[in-house]
Amino acid sequence: MIITLNATASPSEVKRALIDHGLWVEELVGQGRVQFRVESHSAQVPIELVQALPGVELVTTRASTHPRVDQQPKVVEVGAHQVGVGQPTAYFAGPCSVESEDHVRRLAAKLRGYGVKFLRGGAFKPRTSPYAFQGHGEPALKWMKKAAAENGMALVTELMGAEERDLVAEFADLIQIGSRNMHNYALLKHVAGAKKPIFLKRGMAATVEEWLGAGEYLLLHGAPAVVFCERGIRSFDPSTRNLLDLSAVAILAGLGQPVVVDPSHAAGRRDLVGPLARAAVAVGAHGVMIETHDAPGRALSDGPQAVLPEQLEQILKGLDALSAGSKA
Ligand code: PEP
Ligand code: MN
Repeated sequence: MIITLNATASPSEVKRALIDHGLWVEELVGQGRVQFRVESHSAQVPIELVQALPGVELVTTRASTHPRVDQQPKVVEVGAHQVGVGQPTAYFAGPCSVESEDHVRRLAAKLRGYGVKFLRGGAFKPRTSPYAFQGHGEPALKWMKKAAAENGMALVTELMGAEERDLVAEFADLIQIGSRNMHNYALLKHVAGAKKPIFLKRGMAATVEEWLGAGEYLLLHGAPAVVFCERGIRSFDPSTRNLLDLSAVAILAGLGQPVVVDPSHAAGRRDLVGPLARAAVAVGAHGVMIETHDAPGRALSDGPQAVLPEQLEQILKGLDALSAGSKA
């Protein structure tokens, strides 16, 4: 924010008052009237309080580029379940790809027992190689719906193309837009017209502003709500598949936005899923999405990062304990 002082103000007194409120202040020189630039994230100080300080003439702030995101509800209704501020940590789990009816139903029944309320699984898969398994399509949606319904779970699944919208919307409680499509504005506008809440994965090279801007497209064009999902961004280091950006998660959580972390695609490694999930909850994530498979070695996609159901159970118990501890 920029603070302009009136002609009779004492700059040093105003500056001291701002600093006493915990704000980081820089004087802007050569502007005629004395002006201060204040980093508004340095302390939570209501703008009215700054405006009321003796000697302050004008306080200007930058208009938000995503007003609808700023105003969206802090809790998103997904089927019979909720994700967001003040809710129990939302657990999303399931296979990378839906592989067969029997497989997804058996897995879902196990996951329910661990407190998973959101079943994930891909029917239409964005694969780097056109020769890799592309998903079972419509049948997979039906299998997954059955699995979710018989276990009282909400269903989240990805939509890749505009032509899939009505089909996916018929089955999904929450429509996933994958990382590769976050910048596909024509698709965002079109999918918003399905009037379903959207699970918006962060583009792998998107800034936080671009991610929030993509959310704004969805809300402007009719989506009732957006749940943001951090899934790692591209980095220079091949030790992990992506780099989990916990700062972005903390920023969104600080803004009161519903935010979920996907440590599976972030790490690409089973052994890091638990530690990263704990870190996510510690910085304020409202949920985690974890790829789970009972035979990762035979998984049709993303086997190296899939955890076994028993491992998921342990991870979620750890998260429950973490949440309980932070409330104590
Ligand atoms: C997924 O969740 O199945 C997926 C492909 O994720 P992302 O878009 O984050 O790569
Ligand atoms: Mn996957």
